[in-house]
Amino acid sequence: MTRVASPPTVLQTIEGPDTCEMCGTPGLKTELVRDPFIYGTGPDAVELSADVPVHTCARCEVSFVGEAGEVARHEVVCRHLGVLTPDEIRQLRDSTGMSRDRFASLTGFGTATLARWERGDVIQNVSSDRFLRLLAHPGNQRRLRRMRGWDIQEADVIALSSRRRERYAEHAADFRLRDVA
Ligand SMILES: [Zn+2]
Repeated sequence: MTRVASPPTVLQTIEGPDTCEMCGTPGLKTELVRDPFIYGTGPDAVELSADVPVHTCARCEVSFVGEAGEVARHEVVCRHLGVLTPDEIRQLRDSTGMSRDRFASLTGFGTATLARWERGDVIQNVSSDRFLRLLAHPGNQRRLRRMRGWDIQEADVIALSSRRRERYAEHAADFRLRDVA
């Protein structure tokens, strides 16, 4: 037997797009609606609830949920599963200062996979989610960078430049200006 979700509740009227995407008529009404939905199947099915903006066109006599509503539903599912939301994944990657390609190279995730997680097309599995959470810690990023051999190269560059600095300091002593009488 299929579970049926509780009926939606209108919370309030909110700001939204002015024109209807379908007929182009202005005066679109947007309401924030608490919209319960069933997630999962069989004995695992649960009722979740997302607050989604619902747009209603008086001329078309239809109500529709836009992209913001889809994002809100996806976030509710991620929270239910206990995994990072697409926004949180993007923020995590941004905090590392790495591009998607660079982050993919560090972690071993595919660039396309990362893009799908960040867009909310696909939800990462639990082990990937835990790996991502560990990467939020700079110490773990450093360990992984060292494992990949990245920081060794960077450390070499720093060592080289400090040797160069010493050499400049020696030369500077040779070219000391004569005191002006
Ligand atoms: Zn319309």
